Amino acid sequence: MKTFFNTIGNLFRKPVTTKYPFEPTFKPDDYRGLIGFEESLCIWCRRCEAVCPPGAIVFSQDMEGKQTYHFNRAVCIYCGECVRACPREGALFQTAEPAPCALKAENINNGWNKLFDEAIESRERYAAEKKKKAAEKAAADKAAAEAKKTMEGDEGMNPGNN
Ligand code: SF4
Ligand code: SF4
Repeated sequence: MKTFFNTIGNLFRKPVTTKYPFEPTFKPDDYRGLIGFEESLCIWCRRCEAVCPPGAIVFSQDMEGKQTYHFNRAVCIYCGECVRACPREGALFQTAEPAPCALKAENINNGWNKLFDEAIESRERYAAEKKKKAAEKAAADKAAAEAKKTMEGDEGMNPGNN
């Protein structure tokens, strides 16, 4: 009898399901959607990249030292760790926008793995070049200091040359 009344009662209740995709589904206030990036506020510390569990953020670097942010929405697990780790408010933020589906044509996994490796390599190249230039400068400074010292020594031995 109870089942009978439940069944009759359900005929007059609102459905608990939604007509997705024709109607948007319920989104809580703290819904974690796509990660947004505001380049003008970024200080390029790469903390977001370091804390990202699946590696959905990576920065590449050109030979002038300029960094570029890359984000993969299909790798992201929308945990918000990057936003919490970012020291610059507004540089990274979580939007309420759901991530669009990844399409096969985007080659989103293999393409991302390649981009990720290349980004790391670009930084290594830049760091190696920077180190090389610093070593060259240190050697040049040392040579100049030694030449100056030698010249001062020569002048000290021949004061009449002035
Ligand atoms: S939300 Fe999580 S998974 Fe997505 S980019 Fe940020 S740290 Fe990585
Ligand atoms: S943590 Fe914030 S400031 Fe640092 S690189 Fe990422 S977005 Fe930029």
